Amino acid sequence: MSANAPRAAGRHFLQIPGPTPVPDRILSAMAKPTMDHRGPDFGRLGLRVLEGLKSVFKTKDPVVIYPASGTGAWEAALANLMSPGDQVLMVETGHFATLWKTMAVKLGLKPTFIASDWRAGADVAAIEAALRADAGHAFKAVCVVHNETATGCVSPIADVRRAIDATKHPALLLVDTISSLASIDYCHDEWGVDVTVAGSQKGLMLPPGLSFNAVSQKALHASRSATLPKSFWGWEEMIASNATGYFPYTPATNLLYGLDEALKMLHEEGLDAVFARHDRHAEATRRAVRGWGLEILCREPKHYSSSLTAVLMPDGHDADQFRAVTLDAFDMSLGTGLSKVAKKVFRIGHLGDTNDLTILGALSGVEMGLALAGVPHRPGGVQAAMAYLTEAGRVRMAQAA
Ligand SMILES: *Cc1c(COP(=O)(O)O)cnc(C)c1O
Repeated sequence: MSANAPRAAGRHFLQIPGPTPVPDRILSAMAKPTMDHRGPDFGRLGLRVLEGLKSVFKTKDPVVIYPASGTGAWEAALANLMSPGDQVLMVETGHFATLWKTMAVKLGLKPTFIASDWRAGADVAAIEAALRADAGHAFKAVCVVHNETATGCVSPIADVRRAIDATKHPALLLVDTISSLASIDYCHDEWGVDVTVAGSQKGLMLPPGLSFNAVSQKALHASRSATLPKSFWGWEEMIASNATGYFPYTPATNLLYGLDEALKMLHEEGLDAVFARHDRHAEATRRAVRGWGLEILCREPKHYSSSLTAVLMPDGHDADQFRAVTLDAFDMSLGTGLSKVAKKVFRIGHLGDTNDLTILGALSGVEMGLALAGVPHRPGGVQAAMAYLTEAGRVRMAQAA
């Protein structure tokens, strides 16, 4: 926005699939003086957030907090577990899975990449076949993105676990939940995940700047013999300091104030209610998209994402031109199409601190933007979303009565 642009009234609609809008409660929690991170008060905060996080990952394992974006936590997972030249099995669900694979190559690993057309979650049968073919157990890890933010497709992690077990392969299971944690149900312990990678700026409703590794005992054990260089990312020192609520280097103190508040908010609402709310807004969005006569990128209904919906543009229309119109006319940011689907899709983020009226406002902006940008569509998608949310509201009222 230029310095002399007129003031935009109301709030900006940040409808990208992360970063998500940060609630006022979290912003105020962070607007406190930075404390002594070696002082007595800090340890209590540290212990509280480290413990509170476990319930969100659904784990009894330690959760490591890094002052880094999600990319840092990807690197941490690989750097702690792998040795130079190790083979890993990775799944091309979309842009983010591809970036993780590229990182593995840069770190000196040898990924095998199961290809996909970016329109579904991970193909579990293909993972199982690759593991069966690996009789010598060369693969040290299977790496899967739970919610592929580029496509709006969710991978069935419990099924991936069952496939690994069915082949009796010893590979570790590494899962990226950066855009699913606290939005879509996820169970680190129950699904036998060895490292869960997460970030602060999506379902956790925080600004960017924190990321996480939940680490299984099997992974901790494996990290002791892994030989990739690790220093800043090392789990061992971090977990040792964390036992008393402290960190081996300066933590992102004010983001931890925010995390403390975010965990409180998630617990006040209840995780099941949080997931149900995300499911509802995702379904309302899909009904709107179908109402407009547009196509959802995710082909498999069983893989639909509750965090975001990627929408295919009609042929001959540029998704980024359309996004520029919604930004200019209605002060709303929608997610861009990434790499393979650049200009072909736009993404509607419906994760984080969203309510029924926010999502209806966002969908109204999309419908009006489609008209202004001259994109062929049927009007009435918002009406379909509203009808769905009205019925959902009626059910909630009846349950409360
Ligand atoms: C956002 C995202 C990332 C990247 O995280 P950064 O915080 O930008 O480093 C990785 N994976 C997924 C699935 C994401 O949604």
